[in-house]
Amino acid sequence: MSRIAYVNGQYVRHAEAAVHIEDRGYQFADGVYEVCEVWQNKIVDMPRHLDRLDRSLNELRIDWPMTRSAVEFVLREVIRRNRVRDGLVYVQVTRGVSRRDHFFPPEDVAPSIVVTARSTSPKAAEAQAGKGIAVVSYPENRWPRVDIKTIALLPNVLAKQNAKEQGGKEAWYLDGDGNVTEGGSTNAWIVTKDGVLVTRPAESGILRGITRAAVLDLVQKEGLTFEERPFSLEEAFDAKEAFVTAASTLVMPVTRVDGKTIGNGHPGSVATRLRELFHTATDLRAV
Ligand code: PLP
Repeated sequence: MSRIAYVNGQYVRHAEAAVHIEDRGYQFADGVYEVCEVWQNKIVDMPRHLDRLDRSLNELRIDWPMTRSAVEFVLREVIRRNRVRDGLVYVQVTRGVSRRDHFFPPEDVAPSIVVTARSTSPKAAEAQAGKGIAVVSYPENRWPRVDIKTIALLPNVLAKQNAKEQGGKEAWYLDGDGNVTEGGSTNAWIVTKDGVLVTRPAESGILRGITRAAVLDLVQKEGLTFEERPFSLEEAFDAKEAFVTAASTLVMPVTRVDGKTIGNGHPGSVATRLRELFHTATDLRAV
């Protein structure tokens, strides 16, 4: 079965899917995106993801390429056409195709939209979660508007590649005060020795992760103690547990930070339980 992508109104073979060379996403990274998890034939937290897409588009003054319900339809259709039961669906919207010019294009230029979906292996993800991952810190070097989910991910690419070259799976950005902001494509959490969950407030310096929000709901449902405040790298070294959250990783235990063992070096019980219960705290929509 060949993969299918949706590109500006058409379902096309993935291998042949293409956008114009003067798409502003290609030339200026002038666009935004969302990634939703597909779990057991259901789309996880689609309303929250589309609310964030709406916010990202508004912040950049890009119009919706079609109605929100049409986008929902296309997400489902691409998932169905690719027979994804467990995986990820990706939607990207850019300011459209126009002669290269930094100024916004004329009003009649329509935004571009691309949707893709692919299967992932729940078994491989569980195996990874059973081992935990290593993260490697990296100086924060992104623009201040990281609250907008833009496709301009070059700093994230470089930070994550640096982590990979040092045996890690994720980067943790460090701000000027030595505090962890977030991961290259995840939000960052620790559990202190006293059992308090700590994650940075979403007001500044991070993307307001949808998985982070669902985990915060779950934490409250479970009656766990949590604080939304910055934490330093030293505090992470000293923590009982650490983990990251994203639609692509769910709750993923962190067992090493900059080569230092966190807790007993194994995935922590809090992270493991939050991972197990994760979908109970999410909105699930049938594909
Ligand atoms: N932070 C960054 C920089 C990200 O790129 C992502 C996801 O791609 C996240 C956090 C996690 O967000 P979400 O839980 O909505 O996937």
